[in-house]
Amino acid sequence: MMRTAAWNDWTVRAKCRGMNDALFPDAVDQKRAKVVCAGCPVRSECLAEALDNRIEWGVWGGMTERERRLLLRQRPDVRSWRSALNGEKVANQA
Ligand code: SF4
Repeated sequence: MMRTAAWNDWTVRAKCRGMNDALFPDAVDQKRAKVVCAGCPVRSECLAEALDNRIEWGVWGGMTERERRLLLRQRPDVRSWRSALNGEKVANQA
């Protein structure tokens, strides 16, 4: 139950909360953003949000847009990254 609640309101626990443009840094700041993400308690939730919504810019969940594009190409079978990263059984998983 706690886990479900955490997934529903993950942004309130974001480590970058209150940081200007922390979620969407330009290329120069992506390394700095990834360091912030490394210690974030909602990293999985954030990454799932970006992957499930095909967000193509910025660092989300510690991954750059390029890294996320590669992951999406490698795992076209994943229909819900939220479920996959939340440890739920993923439909159509090989
Ligand atoms: S994983 Fe990174 S971008 Fe996502 S909420 Fe946490 S600190 Fe922000």
